[in-house]
Amino acid sequence: MAEHNMNPVATADRKTLVRALAQVLPAHALLHSEEEIRPYECDGLTAYRQLPLLVCLPENEAQILAILQICRRFNVPVVPRGAGTGLSGGAMPMAQGIVLSTAKLNRILTIDAHARTAKVQPGVRNLAISDAVAPHGLYYAPDPSSQIACTIGGNVAENSGGVHCLKYGLTLHNVLRVRLLTMEGEVLEVGSEALDSPGFDLLPLVIGSEGMLGIVTEVTVKLVPKPQLARVIMASFDDVVQGAQAVADVIAAGIIPAGLEMMDQTSSQMVEPFVQAGYDTAAAAILLCESDGTPAEVEEEIARMSEVLRNAGARRIAVSATEDERLRFWSGRKNAFPAAGRISPDYYCMDGTIPRKRLGEVLLGIAAMEKTYGLRCANVFHAGDGNLHPLIMFDANQPGEFERAEQFGAAILELCVEVGGTITGEHGVGIEKIQSMCVQFTRSELDTFFAVKRAFDPAMLLNPDKAIPTLHRCAEYGRLHVRQGQLRFPELPRF
Ligand SMILES: Cc1cc2nc3c(=O)[nH]c(=O)nc-3n(C[C@H](O)[C@H](O)[C@H](O)COP(=O)(O)OP(=O)(O)OC[C@H]3O[C@@H](n4cnc5c(N)ncnc54)[C@H](O)[C@@H]3O)c2cc1C
Repeated sequence: MAEHNMNPVATADRKTLVRALAQVLPAHALLHSEEEIRPYECDGLTAYRQLPLLVCLPENEAQILAILQICRRFNVPVVPRGAGTGLSGGAMPMAQGIVLSTAKLNRILTIDAHARTAKVQPGVRNLAISDAVAPHGLYYAPDPSSQIACTIGGNVAENSGGVHCLKYGLTLHNVLRVRLLTMEGEVLEVGSEALDSPGFDLLPLVIGSEGMLGIVTEVTVKLVPKPQLARVIMASFDDVVQGAQAVADVIAAGIIPAGLEMMDQTSSQMVEPFVQAGYDTAAAAILLCESDGTPAEVEEEIARMSEVLRNAGARRIAVSATEDERLRFWSGRKNAFPAAGRISPDYYCMDGTIPRKRLGEVLLGIAAMEKTYGLRCANVFHAGDGNLHPLIMFDANQPGEFERAEQFGAAILELCVEVGGTITGEHGVGIEKIQSMCVQFTRSELDTFFAVKRAFDPAMLLNPDKAIPTLHRCAEYGRLHVRQGQLRFPELPRF
């Protein structure tokens, strides 16, 4: 594996850079005082902070192109940013780089209700798309819990998911076309508005590329008709493993619910005083299973799911009777993160994905780790997708607790890999899980990722040092994965 230089050396000082950027941007689009750039020092992963050299807020594609040209000329790294809600540090600034925010490109360009598509700029908020197309009886299906704030550009970069992605797919399955600018200034249009596009299908490569291949400047999304009715079941289980098995049973019965989420008792007890969602806080685990469609479809599916859940050992089943009650059941799930913030000074949200049938044993494994690391962990997650979100609670003011939380998180991800899963589901790798990439991938796989990165960005200036670990980073991690008895990077010293 070749060593990849991810720390480019800028060839201009800050003043020269500001002068050059001021030629192409209006004054209000260039932030450089400490007061102005402080809000950009981190994203949702607040444990890591770094002030950038400066922040650019372009208002159109031509300005983005001009910024990229200047940064190329001076070898200055560029970190793209949407709303900064990312949880893996993908938009974390670099000390020698600029932050390029696409928040001001926030126009919905076209809505084609007939074709059920919308073309939007990258800074449009996820929920704003659904709001805008609601008069046509349509909506944009992927619904991250952060949808009120996060942008479609960020969603594309992270391949974001949400409660309804089990049935309707992730961002990848709901985006038809993406326009992006590479660091070299090339305009790329990937995907198409037809069912297939000519040439290699680069859309799945670009979606989920964490701002490392290009700056997204336009996105064409699919829209789906709003279902006539939706109802949700809340099922209580006395045992987490039983609840986990019920998830597998629902899918095995051939049912794809509109949402299939699980919350353990720590989560329901943390959320209930906060939002009064009506949860059974005595249960070891609750499942929320949604059905949507025509009233007849919903009635039939709710009956089938209830039967499967009862057979799996559910001791109580409540079905939302009204739309208000349905929203109340979901409000607890959607507010789980803020609720954790009320009971713990700090928390760390992990994101790993495992085969559904291994859910029970992994939850037991996490419970055992709570004792090993002396920290509490709440589990609230997209159970139908096998996408875990353990919330590790800690107090950063207590010496050693943050480090323990990080080790706890890394151990969970290693367990995910061990059972045949992955180290991320929807939050991306960013800087948070970059070490865990050494556990998941072989050196030649990591080399291939670098080769792809170089094909789009030979100078390695766009969001460098994210998502793909260098050889030395893996060596320093010191916990290199031994897969099938083979020690990886044997030539490197262990630290
Ligand atoms: C309370 C809370 C709940 C959340 N719930 C969910 C959830 O249910 N599901 C889920 O998937 N995520 C969730 N997230 C994570 C986060 O909201 C998503 O990852 C979201 O897609 C990030 O969008 P953003 O606009 O904030 O992007 P940012 O955080 O600003 O950036 C994220 C990444 O995208 C890149 N990027 C941003 N804009 C562009 C662009 N125009 N071109 C190229 N790259 C770009 C950045 O460089 C970075 O790598 C949650 C976060 C919070 C705080």
